[in-house]
Amino acid sequence: MVKIGLEVHQRLACGKLFCSCPSDMADQDAKPNLVIRRRLHPVFSELGEIDAASKAEFEKDRTFAYGVFSGSDCLVEMDEEPPHQLNPEALSIALELAQHLHMKSVDELHVMRKIVIDGSNTSGFQRTAIVAMDGKLETSRGPIDIPLLAIEEESAGIVGTQDNERGEPETTYRLDRLGIPLVEINTTPDIKDGQHLLEVAEKIGMMMRATGKVARGLGTIRQDVNISTEHGARVEIKGAQDLKSLPLLAQNEVNRQEELLRIISELRARFGGKVILNGTIAEVSAIFKSTKSPLISKGLASGGSVFGLVLEKHAGLIGREIQAGKRYGTELSDYAKTTGVKGIIHSDEDPAKYSISGSELSELRQTMGMKPDDAFALVIAPREQAKAALSKALERARMGFVPEETRRANPDGTTSYMRPLPGRARMYPETDVPPIPITAEMLKAVSRGETLEEKKARLLKMLGNAEMADKMLRSRNLGLFERLVEGGAEPMLAASTLENTLVSLRREGAEIKEPGTVLEELFALYRKGKFVKAAIPDILREAAKGKPVPDAAKGYSIISGKELEKIAKELGFDIKAIMSKYRTRIDPKELDRILKGRK
Ligand SMILES: [Zn+2]
Repeated sequence: MVKIGLEVHQRLACGKLFCSCPSDMADQDAKPNLVIRRRLHPVFSELGEIDAASKAEFEKDRTFAYGVFSGSDCLVEMDEEPPHQLNPEALSIALELAQHLHMKSVDELHVMRKIVIDGSNTSGFQRTAIVAMDGKLETSRGPIDIPLLAIEEESAGIVGTQDNERGEPETTYRLDRLGIPLVEINTTPDIKDGQHLLEVAEKIGMMMRATGKVARGLGTIRQDVNISTEHGARVEIKGAQDLKSLPLLAQNEVNRQEELLRIISELRARFGGKVILNGTIAEVSAIFKSTKSPLISKGLASGGSVFGLVLEKHAGLIGREIQAGKRYGTELSDYAKTTGVKGIIHSDEDPAKYSISGSELSELRQTMGMKPDDAFALVIAPREQAKAALSKALERARMGFVPEETRRANPDGTTSYMRPLPGRARMYPETDVPPIPITAEMLKAVSRGETLEEKKARLLKMLGNAEMADKMLRSRNLGLFERLVEGGAEPMLAASTLENTLVSLRREGAEIKEPGTVLEELFALYRKGKFVKAAIPDILREAAKGKPVPDAAKGYSIISGKELEKIAKELGFDIKAIMSKYRTRIDPKELDRILKGRK
């Protein structure tokens, strides 16, 4: 039995949650106006314990740099000022979404602090509040319960990790994203399989977009998937960007857990019962003092040491594939990497890959007292780090069960270890924001937008084509489409420009990054009769290269009247010849009239 649950995070299209800053982020390549640096420590919760996830992050010992953008940030994001009142518009949108999911709103909103010490919040925690409970979503395979809808602040956007001037790893974040309101919607783990998961995720997304009050575009919605298998563990997979990858992601995780269980039972068989790993860790640098291995000699030259770990009776299992392109060794390596090392070398890899010689290998096995069915892991790093890395790999190898983990979704549908699954010790009350009673007046004042069903019916009526209506409903361009139609664009032309023309232009390398303004200008000119339909792809292609739309459109002014008659005559009234030469500049109806008039 596989249990699958979904957690959707969607940004709202209104200002930030606890200050008056707008939710518009600075340009991706914009330079921050100010950079501040912090070192964060885990905060002890009321229970006086640090949970495993917080501890795992803390072990990395990092400093953080935050880029401040004056147009999107104030003292609240910098944690120099307490949070302001919770944004009433954000709350109203969250209440509306809760209504669409048939949920019961809470009587009083309590803002809580959720500890995050990966540095993605300057305060060291994320503020979150439960808005509603007990909802449901109809699906083709029965209703799915929606136990919770919460409102919370978006984290700061990560830029990257580099060594600072003191040689310590420092992670850089952008504060323009911090504080944007998010709703979190959770389902119960009753999703049947990968295809059902895709359906549920799609439906929740479309329901939210139908209201017209949520943010659109890349990164504005994120799906986290919880998967547990019968004898495996609960694993939370974070950051699936592409909905279509969800079925593969779910399948891969089920396979991974099944493979891990197989490895565990094989180990038990090899040990004849309980698996006991002595896990000897020893320095073996001396063996490699004149090595031909570029990786090892480079590591030694820069002051590193080579350490080895013996994994008893593990031969052949470290190299066992558990996800496409990922081995059991990757699991051990991912744990080792939490100490900052780049990875491990293990005995199920081809030694030629690292140019490790046969004599080095046999000396290594002898020095470490290995038996033929033992495996080893090697790491090259500064002494203490190398020891810590192999201790982590050993800790993972000793588990003997599928660990509960938070894993990152990779674009290829596989996952990588991030940290242990967070425990319950992470929340405590936010004392700077008073509780907010949810009154009957507030609920009444919620402006209810369209439901998904209403939106679907309206699109179908507007477009007169079920396939295009469905495409538009799922499109991230839905908001822009509606804006264009409101501005007077012909619905079918607007839809096919967004869903077909822009897509094929992008495929040929002519991508329009911000199609909003470009298309508004384009359709305004088209309505004024400045060019014909057939010219639209060419004008957009020029606009993609940076030419303003009005300038691009000038090259496609319509040829009509006497001029058209002249051209028709020159080309012998041959419709094929005329169209192949002037297709983008002629109104086919007028040409038709001219050709018919001739007869
Ligand atoms: Zn602010």
